[in-house]
Amino acid sequence: MVTEPEPSAEQALRESEYRYRNLFQAMAASFWELDFSPVGAMLRDLRKQGVTDYAAYFAEHPAFVRQMMAATRVIDVNDQTVALFGRGEKAELLRPLDDYWPEESNHVYAASVLAAVSGRASYATECKLRKLNGETFDALFTACFAPEAVANGKLLIGVIDVSERVQAQAMLRQVQAEFAHAARVSMLGELTASIAHEVNQPLAAIATNASAGLRWLDRPEPDIVEVRALTQRIIADAQRAADIISRVRTMAGHRAPETAPIAVNGVVEEAMLFLAHELQAHQVALRLVLVKGLPPVMADRVQVQQVIVNLAVNAIQAMAQTASAVRALTISTSARDDLVTIDVEDSGPGVDLAQQHRLFESFFTTKANGMGMGLPICRSIVESYGGALSVRNRAEGGACFTVTLPVAS
Ligand code: ADP
Repeated sequence: MVTEPEPSAEQALRESEYRYRNLFQAMAASFWELDFSPVGAMLRDLRKQGVTDYAAYFAEHPAFVRQMMAATRVIDVNDQTVALFGRGEKAELLRPLDDYWPEESNHVYAASVLAAVSGRASYATECKLRKLNGETFDALFTACFAPEAVANGKLLIGVIDVSERVQAQAMLRQVQAEFAHAARVSMLGELTASIAHEVNQPLAAIATNASAGLRWLDRPEPDIVEVRALTQRIIADAQRAADIISRVRTMAGHRAPETAPIAVNGVVEEAMLFLAHELQAHQVALRLVLVKGLPPVMADRVQVQQVIVNLAVNAIQAMAQTASAVRALTISTSARDDLVTIDVEDSGPGVDLAQQHRLFESFFTTKANGMGMGLPICRSIVESYGGALSVRNRAEGGACFTVTLPVAS
């Protein structure tokens, strides 16, 4: 019987090394081999000094993180790395790692060290890295801690240039923001009559109170107490008019969305201030059921307000079509699990369930002067904060649009 000779361990190792080198060179991503053995010594020193919580130590000592980087040397790179980071010469790239690391990515290096010492197999994240010409770019960074490599103080990292994707995402966000802004301005256009009415009220009151004040002053014995009270009312009304204008300006203003923790109940109440006259003109009874102690959500205040005003305007318009004497708009808020829910319910005709999915498509409208952009923009705003917008018909008639937004962590 003839048996194949067993390949020697040395030969197997050579073959594996050969395969690895080929892969290292041929992959489309940038690959690096790093020697971080001096970092091991630095960490042991820290331990001797009594440091037990590396994460906290790194966070408090950014200079130490930079020192670890400076002590980490690039010992090999593939051609993709030369093309992406270098200026033509591979030898030029074999230098301490800190040259490739902008300050803003310090935490990524620190997290990689923590992942390596805690025995994880790999660590990946998106971060900024620096080319030798000083330019920083968006990278997908992966560190691989193969146990046998780590035992030799070696580390493999892979880098993929994702700057085009990141730029495309930024552009998409900007286009969405522009759309949302255009829709807001158009929505304000629809509400012009209401807004004018709202501003007119305090202005008319100011004029009336000022004339009354003059009459009190023209008396043989001017009534100063009465004039003071009237003047105070004038100040309050002027403030009211200024508040309305400032709300409209915020809505109409062109600004990048700002994500911050917001109290949804306050946003709902403020949104209703835009609609006070609209509700009255259409004889709609408003009911707010706002749960106390609602946790904040992470979103842009003006955009969430836009969503609520938009859904409420749609509800008012839907109810205007019905002959029914009862026109009720109910907005309620609640929280469950990690979500805050806003329900906008009306007593209109409800939505045509066959068309249900089309309502959220751009330019779908059943109104003579509709644009069909309201609901798709509302949905894209809500989804950009990790939330959802859905619709159902209520058993008692009318539609219920439900917005959910994740609670700010
Ligand atoms: P537009 O208001 O310009 O038509 P939207 O995207 O806001 O655009 O709404 C799309 C369509 O969804 C409306 O034309 C209407 O047919 C339907 N719709 C929206 N809200 C309601 C509602 N509360 N009740 C019934 N139908 C609604």
